[in-house]
Formats: sequence, C-alpha cells, structure tokens
Amino acid sequence: MAIVFHERYFDHVQYEGHPESPERLAIPIKRMLELDLWKDVTRPGPASEEDILLAHSPQHVSRIRNSPEGFLDPDTYIHKDTYEIALLAAGGSIEAARIAHDCGKPTLALVRPPGHHAGRDFCGGFCYFNNIAIAARRMYLERTAIVDIDVHHGNGTEDIFLEDDKVLFMSTHQRGIYPGSGDARTVGKGRGEGFTVNIPMRGGIGDATYMMILDRIIEPILHQYDPKMILVSIGVDAHYSDPLASLALSSKAYLEICRRLIAIAPDRRIAFMLEGGYALEATAEVLSALVGEFCGAEVPLRQIYSKDVEVMGREEVESVIEVQKQYWNL
Ligand SMILES: [Zn+2]
Repeated sequence: MAIVFHERYFDHVQYEGHPESPERLAIPIKRMLELDLWKDVTRPGPASEEDILLAHSPQHVSRIRNSPEGFLDPDTYIHKDTYEIALLAAGGSIEAARIAHDCGKPTLALVRPPGHHAGRDFCGGFCYFNNIAIAARRMYLERTAIVDIDVHHGNGTEDIFLEDDKVLFMSTHQRGIYPGSGDARTVGKGRGEGFTVNIPMRGGIGDATYMMILDRIIEPILHQYDPKMILVSIGVDAHYSDPLASLALSSKAYLEICRRLIAIAPDRRIAFMLEGGYALEATAEVLSALVGEFCGAEVPLRQIYSKDVEVMGREEVESVIEVQKQYWNL
C-alpha cells in the first residue's frame, strides 16, 4: 500500500487543546515506523488554485486565502499558514487518487487538515478545502464512488456532488450530532438524484450493523454503479474509543470494512483519505493495520470488542433500504 504524506501537515495547529491535533498523524506514523510499515511514502506538492476551484467557489477560495487569523466557526480556527497547508492536504489527496488509479495500488493519504465538512461555498468542522472532492473532480472519471465512513456526515462532500451523477456519494454517520445533516431521505437532486446515499445511525451502533450495511446497501450499490474508482473518507471517529462521538466500531470491524472496499474496487483502484479520528491509539491501530494488510505484516489489534453483535441498527438499515429501493435493486 502506498502512503502519501507531507511533513508540513504537522504544522497545522488549530489552537491549544483542540482534538484535531498534529498527534493524530504523529502517533500513527510512529506506530508504522515501529512495525516497519513506513515504506512507499510519496511527498505531494500543493494543489493549484485551479484544482481547488473544481470543488469550491472563487469566493470560498479567497475567503480562506485572505482571512485574518481567527475563528471561522466555533471549532475551526484559521492561521496565516492554513491556506498553504490546506493546499498541501488537497494536493496529497489528488496524489493518492492518482497513484491508486494509475498504478492500481491501494493508497492512504495521511493528510491534515481534513476536508469532508467543506462544501462548495462553506467550511467548518475543522475543514477548509474538501480534499476528497477535489481529488474526485480532478480525476473526473465517468463514475467515481466516494464512501465516507467518518462518524460525522460528510455534508461538504454531499453539497459538492448533490446534483452530480458522475460521483456517487455514500455516507455512514451518527445521527443527531455535528453537522446535523445526512437524513436518509436526502438522495441527491436533478441529474444527481439517486447518487447520494445517507445511512444515519443512532449512538451505540457498531460492528454487526456495519456488516449488514455492507451486505445490504454499500456492496450491492457499488456492484450496480460499477465505479471506475473508489475513494474513501476514512475517519476513525466511529470507533468505540473516540471521545467526540458514540458509534461503536471496533478496530477489527474497521479493518474488515477496508478489506471489503478494497476487494470490490476495480483493479484495486482505491484511495483512503484521512478525515477525523480523535482517539490516538485507536487511530494508530486502525491505520497501521490497514497499511499492514499490504506489507504481509500482522499488526496486533487490541481494541476488538464490540457491543453490537446482534445488529442493533436493523431498523435503521431497513429504512435506508426503503428509500434507496427507488434507485437501486436492494
Ligand atoms: Zn468526524
């Protein structure tokens, strides 16, 4: 598995004590070094302004470029370096998509700041530019699938592709937390109708329900859509250890989800873009196990206990199927 990383990602600091901290990359990288998994690492260049404009309005770009230091929303701070580092995060995601597509090699973009809460004309939730959306538009294949497994709804990504049928957007998330969107009945608009798949779940739901979601929704839709490539917004904050949310995935289930998405990706064209994940140990464990899959290394998983063994979210899954049945054979 290829890794894309730039050391400038460490220099992005929101403010003291903020959960979206440089340690979110430092601890997983330290673990990968210890396990001899830190190989095949590419250092990306910045995205160009032209790339950013593929997903954002000119007003949004100039807001991020010219904003004085301060709060953009109660959780998102901007510094003089933010614009430059956000361009490198978008550039890292473009590079990861390119490696995955051109070399048929699953790729992990270890980027910061994250991106999936940045929409065409807005930012927030620790995000400035939507890394995965910019990468998808830069590739702009006939059909690309984005699967967002961060615990928060990928409202920015949904906004950018709501009326777009060349990108299928699927998001699993906890309902009732930030950003509050992601209702199952939001399915896309115009040409994009049927190409947005929202799978909201209540807190406490974990492993067994996610396997049902893969079996009954994500895998069947991916088979029918037949994407040329899969991009994954991987947030590790749906993990049961995460301090910001309360879905309950184990590390084992995270790895299983990634394996199943890799298995379904056409010619192994799949790139994982880091979004959230604030339990540092869980994030290190999940990301190094994902990289370990491709290095023949057995990465020991410690956080493997899930309380959801009997499909606690069966009703939620059935109600998403009810909505999506109009568009897909489920
Ligand atoms: Zn998140």
